[in-house]
Amino acid sequence: MVEFEKFTPPEDGVRIVVKRTGLDIPDNPVIPFIEGDGIGPDIMRAARRVLDAAVEKTFGGARRLCWYEIFAGEKAQKKFGEWIPKDTFEAIRYFSVALKGPLTTPVGGGFRSLNVTLRQVLDLYACVRPVRYFEGVPAPVKEPQKMDMVIFRENTEDVYAGIEWAMDSEGARKVIGFLNTELGCSISADSGIGIKPMSETGSKRLIRKAIRYAITRNRKSVTMVHKGNIMKYTEGAFRDWGYEVAAQEFRKQAITEKDLHGGELPPGRILINDRIADAMFQQILTRTDEYSVLATPNLNGDYLSDACAAQVGGLGLAPGANFGDTMAVFEATHGTAPKYAGQDKVNPGSLILSGVMMLEHLGWDEAGEMIVSAMEETIRRKKVTYDLERLMEGATRLSTSQFADAVIANMKPL
Ligand code: NAP
Repeated sequence: MVEFEKFTPPEDGVRIVVKRTGLDIPDNPVIPFIEGDGIGPDIMRAARRVLDAAVEKTFGGARRLCWYEIFAGEKAQKKFGEWIPKDTFEAIRYFSVALKGPLTTPVGGGFRSLNVTLRQVLDLYACVRPVRYFEGVPAPVKEPQKMDMVIFRENTEDVYAGIEWAMDSEGARKVIGFLNTELGCSISADSGIGIKPMSETGSKRLIRKAIRYAITRNRKSVTMVHKGNIMKYTEGAFRDWGYEVAAQEFRKQAITEKDLHGGELPPGRILINDRIADAMFQQILTRTDEYSVLATPNLNGDYLSDACAAQVGGLGLAPGANFGDTMAVFEATHGTAPKYAGQDKVNPGSLILSGVMMLEHLGWDEAGEMIVSAMEETIRRKKVTYDLERLMEGATRLSTSQFADAVIANMKPL
């Protein structure tokens, strides 16, 4: 057991152990959680109640989540004088999962963002965003129910590496000088410069995770979305490395579109293909149900996740998680919405569904399915929070806690 300096784990819970063969999940795993800033406390309270109720109803007391509060953001700053105490990183490393509310980006705190810091320090390299439709939610397309995609976005490289220099800075002058004189480029002197690194290791581990997910979750395909026709040695290489992973590590379970020659997908195999990013933005609208799992570099994934979420009615119900090799942090995809803080008003759906992803990660799928069905039922009955109520005719407006109550009341054994 590691020693924590500032906050102590619950004594009645057991640690999830990561083994070479997978996770060893006790019946009472310790689940660290970061409440989050702004609306964080409201939605975390609601989400934990819903998750606890589903686990209780599914397993009849034989299993339960042992919550362990860890701190980041404004609450950590107030309590400990730090935005993210060392214990928080240690707790996530040691217990290997966490549920997280949204965090304010401190102004002048020496951080680009607390979220980015958590992902970088813990090397949570895959941002995973499932996007699906909930019946009754107003959506801008005719057949939103055709959307059922899971986006695996690389989280650490690409233009997000944060390597850039302002126009006229010493760095920009040096880089431009080097490129123009040593490598025959002709970059205008009044340019800002940004670097787009994409590595074989970084790309392969992301695509490998997406393929493994597709196999274990019975998904039909993994599509690599890139702009390799223009950026050959970054995005084009991402695609090539992806095909290498498929050929070398998943020969028995996967088949490429090229090898299929337009034929039927053999049973038990998943299809590996690729699409150029601009075409893909059309395809998510025009051939939505032909796609299942997407694997993307960082920037494409950023755009695509929000575009897909918008297609089914917005970000309010979109869950997310950040995975490393041994750790996973499940989090709401929206921010802290400070103007609604403490009002028991906002939609806890995104965090609840992130919790469902966490239950699936634990292999407690039945409890996750119970929550999803109950949420479907609640929304179908038009019992929703203000954000959806203002868009749905004849809907009843519920508070955050009332929405959690309604979901719990609608939970039925599967
Ligand atoms: P935001 O907090 O997501 O809020 C923007 C608007 O989205 C809200 O005013 C509200 O719209 C709607 N909204 C967000 N969450 C909602 C919910 N659960 N239910 C219903 N409506 C919801 O974005 P922001 O105002 O740009 O960012 C505020 C802070 O959050 C910033 O400090 C930012 O850095 C941080 N942030 C954190 C994360 C994270 O921790 N992962 C992510 C994004 C932003 P209406 O006003 O129309 O009702």
